Amino acid sequence: MALLKILTFPDPFLKIVAKPVSLFDKALETLVNDMAETMYDEPGIGLAATQIHEDKRLFVMDVFYNKEDPESKKQPVAVINPEIFETGGESCIEEGCLSVPEFRAEIKRFAEVSLRFQDLNQEVHELQAQGILAICIQHELDHLNGKLFIDRLPPLKRRMIQNRLKKENNRSN
Ligand SMILES: [Zn+2]
Repeated sequence: MALLKILTFPDPFLKIVAKPVSLFDKALETLVNDMAETMYDEPGIGLAATQIHEDKRLFVMDVFYNKEDPESKKQPVAVINPEIFETGGESCIEEGCLSVPEFRAEIKRFAEVSLRFQDLNQEVHELQAQGILAICIQHELDHLNGKLFIDRLPPLKRRMIQNRLKKENNRSN
């Protein structure tokens, strides 16, 4: 297993619309394992393939694992070719992103989503999600469509934040 490098804003790769996964081979399984390991290492509750420079409609997530709790078990879920087919309600909670370090903001999203996706064995699953799971799914699916959570801020606030992050990025390079 290997830790993967996470791309950060304003890397242009974060803007691509990822391609569907059609080859379910050993390499895909290795990629999923590496992505899960990277997610836990950061730590994050989700990681999309485009964040680690892979053009694939795929993300991993584990919203329930708590590093501080010795009883807590890692249960990473590989979500391949995801599709939200039902939405409901409204929710606004604070989000962060491994690709936008040290910035958090409240983002308006659906409170509930129904998700259809494939696992590593190409089996199709359906999942009704709410709470933090529903938010995580929408956040990760946005990544696969080239969207960051800061893109969902109101225009003025978005521009301010983007300029600030670009400046910080230039300083550290
Ligand atoms: Zn993110």
